[in-house]
Amino acid sequence: MNKIEHIGIAVKNLSEASSVYERLLGVKSYKKEEVTSEHVLTEFFQIGESKIELLEATSNESAISKFIEKKGEGIHHIAFAVKDIKAEMERLKKEGFILLNETPKKGADNKLVCFVHPKSAHGILIELCQDI
Ligand code: ZN
Repeated sequence: MNKIEHIGIAVKNLSEASSVYERLLGVKSYKKEEVTSEHVLTEFFQIGESKIELLEATSNESAISKFIEKKGEGIHHIAFAVKDIKAEMERLKKEGFILLNETPKKGADNKLVCFVHPKSAHGILIELCQDI
Protein backbone atom coordinates (compact mmCIF):
# COMPACT_ATOMS: atom_id res chain seq x y z
CA MET A 1 0.00 0.00 0.00
CA ASN A 2 1.26 3.45 -0.85
CA LYS A 3 -0.29 5.98 1.53
CA ILE A 4 -3.52 6.92 3.24
CA GLU A 5 -5.67 8.20 0.38
CA HIS A 6 -8.49 9.59 2.49
CA ILE A 7 -10.42 9.23 5.70
CA GLY A 8 -14.17 8.65 5.36
CA ILE A 9 -16.50 10.28 7.87
CA ALA A 10 -20.16 9.28 8.21
CA VAL A 11 -22.43 12.29 8.65
CA LYS A 12 -26.18 12.75 9.05
CA ASN A 13 -26.46 15.93 7.03
CA LEU A 14 -23.93 16.52 4.28
CA SER A 15 -24.57 20.22 3.77
CA GLU A 16 -24.20 20.97 7.49
CA ALA A 17 -21.09 18.80 7.81
CA SER A 18 -19.63 20.27 4.66
CA SER A 19 -19.87 23.82 5.95
CA VAL A 20 -18.24 22.74 9.24
CA TYR A 21 -15.35 21.04 7.43
CA GLU A 22 -15.00 23.99 5.08
CA ARG A 23 -14.48 26.25 8.11
CA LEU A 24 -12.29 23.70 9.88
CA LEU A 25 -9.94 23.05 6.98
CA GLY A 26 -10.06 26.50 5.43
CA VAL A 27 -10.81 25.17 1.94
CA LYS A 28 -13.88 24.43 -0.10
CA SER A 29 -14.70 20.88 -1.13
CA TYR A 30 -13.43 19.98 -4.59
CA LYS A 31 -16.06 17.44 -5.43
CA LYS A 32 -19.57 16.32 -4.55
CA GLU A 33 -20.67 13.01 -5.98
CA GLU A 34 -23.47 10.50 -5.53
CA VAL A 35 -22.54 6.82 -5.59
CA THR A 36 -25.92 5.28 -6.37
CA SER A 37 -24.73 1.68 -5.97
CA GLU A 38 -23.71 2.47 -2.36
CA HIS A 39 -26.67 4.77 -1.63
CA VAL A 40 -24.39 7.59 -0.56
CA LEU A 41 -23.74 11.19 -1.30
CA THR A 42 -20.07 12.07 -0.87
CA GLU A 43 -18.11 15.27 -0.65
CA PHE A 44 -14.32 15.54 -0.78
CA PHE A 45 -11.89 18.00 0.74
CA GLN A 46 -8.17 18.12 0.10
CA ILE A 47 -5.42 19.70 2.18
CA GLY A 48 -1.92 18.97 0.95
CA GLU A 49 -1.81 15.27 0.13
CA SER A 50 -4.59 14.42 2.54
CA LYS A 51 -8.24 14.03 1.72
CA ILE A 52 -11.38 13.84 3.80
CA GLU A 53 -14.51 12.21 2.43
CA LEU A 54 -17.84 13.07 4.03
CA LEU A 55 -20.58 10.50 3.45
CA GLU A 56 -24.32 10.89 3.87
CA ALA A 57 -26.76 8.02 3.32
CA THR A 58 -29.35 8.50 0.59
CA SER A 59 -31.45 5.53 1.74
CA ASN A 60 -31.90 3.20 4.70
CA GLU A 61 -30.15 0.45 2.73
CA SER A 62 -26.92 2.39 2.88
CA ALA A 63 -24.09 1.08 5.05
CA ILE A 64 -23.74 4.68 6.24
CA SER A 65 -27.24 4.83 7.72
CA LYS A 66 -26.64 1.49 9.48
CA PHE A 67 -23.31 2.75 10.79
CA ILE A 68 -24.85 5.98 12.15
CA GLU A 69 -27.72 4.05 13.74
CA LYS A 70 -25.25 1.85 15.60
CA LYS A 71 -22.39 4.19 16.36
CA GLY A 72 -23.46 7.72 15.55
CA GLU A 73 -21.51 10.05 13.30
CA GLY A 74 -17.76 9.65 13.09
CA ILE A 75 -14.86 8.02 11.29
CA HIS A 76 -16.30 5.35 9.03
CA HIS A 77 -13.26 4.10 7.11
CA ILE A 78 -9.61 4.65 6.28
CA ALA A 79 -8.73 4.37 2.60
CA PHE A 80 -5.30 3.37 1.33
CA ALA A 81 -4.05 4.09 -2.18
CA VAL A 82 -2.80 1.02 -4.01
CA LYS A 83 -1.21 0.70 -7.47
CA ASP A 84 -2.71 -2.68 -8.36
CA ILE A 85 -5.94 -3.33 -6.48
CA LYS A 86 -6.38 -6.91 -7.74
CA ALA A 87 -2.88 -7.89 -6.62
CA GLU A 88 -3.43 -6.21 -3.26
CA MET A 89 -6.78 -8.02 -2.82
CA GLU A 90 -5.06 -11.35 -3.58
CA ARG A 91 -2.30 -10.58 -1.11
CA LEU A 92 -4.75 -9.66 1.67
CA LYS A 93 -6.90 -12.73 1.01
CA LYS A 94 -3.82 -14.93 1.40
CA GLU A 95 -3.04 -13.11 4.64
CA GLY A 96 -6.47 -14.11 5.93
CA PHE A 97 -8.28 -10.78 5.68
CA ILE A 98 -12.00 -10.82 4.91
CA LEU A 99 -12.78 -8.82 1.78
CA LEU A 100 -16.27 -7.37 1.47
CA ASN A 101 -16.26 -7.54 -2.30
CA GLU A 102 -14.75 -10.24 -4.49
CA THR A 103 -13.97 -7.95 -7.40
CA PRO A 104 -13.02 -4.27 -7.39
CA LYS A 105 -15.99 -1.95 -7.77
CA LYS A 106 -16.40 1.61 -8.93
CA GLY A 107 -16.23 4.01 -5.99
CA ALA A 108 -16.38 7.79 -5.68
CA ASP A 109 -13.69 10.14 -7.01
CA ASN A 110 -12.70 7.98 -10.03
CA LYS A 111 -11.46 5.01 -8.04
CA LEU A 112 -11.74 1.29 -8.11
CA VAL A 113 -12.35 0.20 -4.54
CA CYS A 114 -12.51 -2.83 -2.31
CA PHE A 115 -13.40 -2.95 1.37
CA VAL A 116 -11.84 -5.09 4.07
CA HIS A 117 -14.11 -6.18 6.93
CA PRO A 118 -13.54 -4.22 10.15
CA LYS A 119 -13.39 -7.54 12.03
CA SER A 120 -10.16 -8.22 10.13
CA ALA A 121 -8.58 -4.92 11.11
CA HIS A 122 -9.37 -4.35 14.79
CA GLY A 123 -12.58 -2.46 14.25
CA ILE A 124 -11.58 -0.27 11.32
CA LEU A 125 -13.23 -0.62 7.93
CA ILE A 126 -10.39 -0.47 5.38
CA GLU A 127 -10.86 0.72 1.81
CA LEU A 128 -8.34 -0.01 -0.91
CA CYS A 129 -8.47 2.38 -3.82
CA GLN A 130 -6.78 2.54 -7.15
CA ASP A 131 -6.98 5.43 -9.60
CA ILE A 132 -8.93 4.55 -12.73
ZN1 ZN B 1 -13.81 6.27 0.93
